[in-house]
Parts: sequence; structure tokens; C-alpha cells
Amino acid sequence: MDPSSAPVCPACGFRIFNRRYPKCESCGAALPQTLAYTAAERRALMAAEDERERAEARARDARPEANSAGDGAILAAVLTMTSPGN
Ligand SMILES: [Zn+2]
Repeated sequence: MDPSSAPVCPACGFRIFNRRYPKCESCGAALPQTLAYTAAERRALMAAEDERERAEARARDARPEANSAGDGAILAAVLTMTSPGN
């Protein structure tokens, strides 16, 4: 993304970095719908962010050091029981 292509407020020329706000953060002028995200777009963005946060939380939980020693012992026992050659 080229930052120089960021939209600007038609009232004051303030560069719009956060299009989730329906108003200019500098002068408070209402932004045209072509600049500000629509409610549906904002909802979609929030849903995507929620999903990303959940994925990150899952990644954290999946880290071996994050698991308790008890879980590790159970996993080791299961692996032992299911390993071939017994
Ligand atoms: Zn403005």
C-alpha cells in the first residue's frame, strides 16, 4: 500500500489514516462514504480482527511451553500407547 495514496478530508485536507471513523479526525467533517468505511465494512473488519485475535490466541495455546506439565504427561502417555512396535 502506498501511503501517499491515502485519502484526504475534502474539508481540510487532513490525511485519513483511520477510515473506520466516519468523521475527519482533524476537523470533524463528515467524510464521504467513498472515504469512510461503511457500517458493513467496519463490521467485516471487526470480524476479521476478532478472527485474527482468536487465531493468535490459539497459536499461543498450542505452544508446548504454554501447556501444563500434566497435559504434557498425558500426551506422552498417549503417544507411548499408540506408538508402533508394542
Ligand atoms: Zn477534515
